[in-house]
Amino acid sequence: MTVRVRIAPSPTGNLHIGTARTAVFNWLFARHQGGKFILRIEDTDKERSRPEYTENILQGLSWLGLNWDEGPFFQTKRLELYSEAVQTLLNQGLAYRCYTTSEELEAMREAQKAKNEAPRYDNRHRNLTEAQAANYKAEGRSCVIRFKIDDDREIVWDDLVRGKMSWRGSDLGGDMVIARASAEGIGQPLYNFAVVLDDMDMQITHVIRGEDHISNTPKQILLYEAFGAKPPEFAHTPLILNIDGRKLSKRDGVTSISEFQQMGFAPEALVNYMTLLGWSPPDSTQEIFTLEEAAKQFSFERVNKAGAKFDWAKLDWLNSQYLHEMPVDKLIDLLIPEWEKAEYQFTGGRDRHWLEHLVVLIQPSLTRLVDAVGMSQLFFTETVEYSDEAIAQLKQEGSATVLKGMISALEKTPQLSESIAQDMIKQVVKEQNVKKGLLMRSLRAALTGDLHGPDLIQSWLLLNQIGLDKSRLTKAIGDW
Ligand code: GLU
Repeated sequence: MTVRVRIAPSPTGNLHIGTARTAVFNWLFARHQGGKFILRIEDTDKERSRPEYTENILQGLSWLGLNWDEGPFFQTKRLELYSEAVQTLLNQGLAYRCYTTSEELEAMREAQKAKNEAPRYDNRHRNLTEAQAANYKAEGRSCVIRFKIDDDREIVWDDLVRGKMSWRGSDLGGDMVIARASAEGIGQPLYNFAVVLDDMDMQITHVIRGEDHISNTPKQILLYEAFGAKPPEFAHTPLILNIDGRKLSKRDGVTSISEFQQMGFAPEALVNYMTLLGWSPPDSTQEIFTLEEAAKQFSFERVNKAGAKFDWAKLDWLNSQYLHEMPVDKLIDLLIPEWEKAEYQFTGGRDRHWLEHLVVLIQPSLTRLVDAVGMSQLFFTETVEYSDEAIAQLKQEGSATVLKGMISALEKTPQLSESIAQDMIKQVVKEQNVKKGLLMRSLRAALTGDLHGPDLIQSWLLLNQIGLDKSRLTKAIGDW
């Protein structure tokens, strides 16, 4: 048997982190088993589905490296399959037309509430005579198609994550709506119905999805039975929770993959983090791995039942590890769009070679890609803003004199290098008989506007390459 799994997002919003994590588990399982990973877009909800969300979902999955083997298939292109299947169930007497109005349903619910009963459809139109149905139709009532659910049935399955699951037919809310009807006949199919038809048609062997779908599974199993098909295996994965232990939602701020992308996370780090949301490798101390490495070790035995708490600090840590280890060339390519967003110009000697030098300097301090904007601002602007500490430093006695010494040494130096810079510092310290610390702090304050930051000599070299070092030293002396 070839394993076939699917991710089946509804394009009613951008790719959500929960859906993406479900996609990760599907992908890992498919790759582990040498199976196929299929992408299906569940777009039957016409009001809420939008093409830009589909676009966002496809882009997000690709960006994360979750390449699919088949699809994307669109449910709206498969409507005939569903209406034929509805007709089959109607012909077999397993489904029927229900004309109950929304007012009647409302009254039914009120009465159940008054008796402290769980809301359910009371199957009142299950056995309408032809004359009754014709009357309702003549009244102009619209109808839905309901699938009969036997209250006495016990439905069980062995969930790959949660073990034995057991439901009673009576807990499923009465005969279930599988399609709305339109004037022409059978209209929009509903989720539980279309999903089963598609999973059968696409020969899905394992349905791996969030645990919020558990209550749908017994209904779907009954539909498989009605079509004489063997249900797939089911694996219901834990939800992603916020720090308060509640389901991660829009209220927690960032939830869609494109937002994580904008925040400066590298896809390899984010997908690595998502893999750990509910799963751990056999060596649970191992935290950094590629999707391929995780796939080799993936099994449902190591998927937790409990919800997975989303931990920003851990994601940041993982991201920093990836950025620190990344080849410089690749990192430059990822940083250029960030710098462009900040409207930094790549002129005046700021060529690829110079960018390499800059990236080597800031790489060890990056947590997110966007951090590079603030860290490199002083290299992209002509003048710097001075912090209070830097101003105090520049006002210190002796500061202007050492900086003047540095300027005249610089004027005698045709080409600056690391060793020449070190020699110049030594020479001025000696000539002026000052402490090296005074010179270094003053130099840093004048060149970078701050007393803290990355390696001073490398920062100076970078500024020298774009001709900004001397002007900054001169300005610092003039201003303070
Ligand atoms: N369209 C459903 C969703 O986005 C798919 C659920 C399933 O995998 O069956 O939640």
